[in-house]
Amino acid sequence: MVTGKKIAIIGAGPGGLTTGMLLANSGYEVTVFESQDRVGGRNRSITLGDYTFDTGPTFLMMLEILEEVFQSTGRDIRKYMELVELDPMYKLSFIDKEISPTRNHEKMAEQIKQLFPGHEKGLMEFYKNEKKRYEAMYPCLQRPYSGLGSYLSTTLLKAVPHLSLGKNLYKELGKYFTDEQCKIAFTFQAKYLGMSPWECPALFMMIPFVEHEFGVFHVQGGLSRISEVMADIIKEDGGVIRLNEPIDKVVVENGTARGVRLQSGKTENFDAVVINADFGHAMNTLFEPNTLRKYTPEKVAGKKYSCSTFMLYLGLDKCYDEPHHNIIIAEDYKNNIEEIAVSKTIPQDMSIYVRNASVTDPDLAPKGHSALYVLVPVPNNTSGVQWTPEFTADYREKVLDRIISRTSMTDLKEHIVEEKIITPTGWAKEEQVYNGATFNLGHQLTQMLHLRPHNRFEEAKCCYLVGGGTHPGSGLPTIYESAKISAQLLKDDLS
Ligand SMILES: Cc1cc2nc3c(=O)[nH]c(=O)nc-3n(C[C@H](O)[C@H](O)[C@H](O)COP(=O)(O)OP(=O)(O)OC[C@H]3O[C@@H](n4cnc5c(N)ncnc54)[C@H](O)[C@@H]3O)c2cc1C
Repeated sequence: MVTGKKIAIIGAGPGGLTTGMLLANSGYEVTVFESQDRVGGRNRSITLGDYTFDTGPTFLMMLEILEEVFQSTGRDIRKYMELVELDPMYKLSFIDKEISPTRNHEKMAEQIKQLFPGHEKGLMEFYKNEKKRYEAMYPCLQRPYSGLGSYLSTTLLKAVPHLSLGKNLYKELGKYFTDEQCKIAFTFQAKYLGMSPWECPALFMMIPFVEHEFGVFHVQGGLSRISEVMADIIKEDGGVIRLNEPIDKVVVENGTARGVRLQSGKTENFDAVVINADFGHAMNTLFEPNTLRKYTPEKVAGKKYSCSTFMLYLGLDKCYDEPHHNIIIAEDYKNNIEEIAVSKTIPQDMSIYVRNASVTDPDLAPKGHSALYVLVPVPNNTSGVQWTPEFTADYREKVLDRIISRTSMTDLKEHIVEEKIITPTGWAKEEQVYNGATFNLGHQLTQMLHLRPHNRFEEAKCCYLVGGGTHPGSGLPTIYESAKISAQLLKDDLS
């Protein structure tokens, strides 16, 4: 059904593209404006010579949410991309132990029994109790929170006992396990939100649960394929994607968004504007000075942000026999996390995530070669650290040395033929990510639900937020949910 309504979407990240896909399929005239030369935002591909990398997301979790998005536009996701379940999901490497988690509960219990004798009972309790928490909590993330009245819903009231208020993820996990390493194996997932397990609210026990329940998937060609396919679908349904088209300002008249102003100064009128650009960056750049009240530069600066990441994308003329996902845990993990989140110093005893996707996916590099992705959690730019070329080069060496000492990639340095680095400064300057906080606003309870920037933007009518900086939060599944919520609000408002 053609609605005759024109919608501008600022940013072709996963949130913007999902919203565009849902709206274009519902008869809206969708135009997506993207400042970069390709779609995907932090989920876009990086090409270095013959090698292809994902910029950011590499773990596709809760596949069902993405499947539903495709289904709601009458499409079967499997006709558009090849999905591969990873089993084991990843390797977790401690200095003296390795764990290879699987979502097969029996096999997982055997592994836990072997590595942490006696803890298998706790594992069964974890599966049982956390399923209940997930079933109560997840529906709360699927609805909008526009005002305090939203808290009176029966869905949320049923979830209250599962909030474990005042407890953090690490403390809550103590119900099931006592061994330090076993606890890390089920709480390091706080890093998926860029947070510390000692700070992340206990309700996020949902993340290790969904991982162990629904598994981890890879998309052949890289997870950036999801964004590319979404852009194609928007076009199939009549929408337009305008690359290399950064928006200068949202045009607001009498408190209502009326359109967008391009960098050329030209204005284009729309019935509604959806903002997918990084939250802090958008608030500080997309509105005329002194027009925002709730999100002034000072108030935006006063919010809490996730950590940042130091990234290496390495094209290798060799393929190592290492797992697809390898998470190397720091020798003193708690100290490592405190350096990132509290003292904001650059970790020397760092944790490193190494993704060796070429063992699963031949599309990423020439035969016999591989595309290695390295992510090191580091403090965001509120640390004041200057990532000068010398500092960056020195850190690169330290990161490579650690990979060499903790994996079988002992001759790694001799096989690098292509390379790109993104530092926290790079995230801020080149990727337009406020504070270089790669996982967006923090997920403290003070920044969740109604306290997170609303999907129906509080500062202007006919304006909506979508992506990691709005409700429900950062991470692909929740970003897809944010798009579902924002698209529905827009439809309700415009109908
Ligand atoms: C290193 C890293 C690893 C991650 N790993 C995972 C993972 O494994 N699994 C997972 O689920 N999630 C992961 N995430 C988190 C999250 O899924 C991604 O960050 C995701 O891409 C965020 O999507 P978004 O919709 O918020 O928009 P973004 O990806 O931030 O896209 C926003 C878009 O807006 C554009 N834009 C900004 N300003 C303008 C303007 N003025 N005009 C036009 N366009 C503009 C930008 O160019 C960009 O394309 C990871 C993130 C990072 C950074």
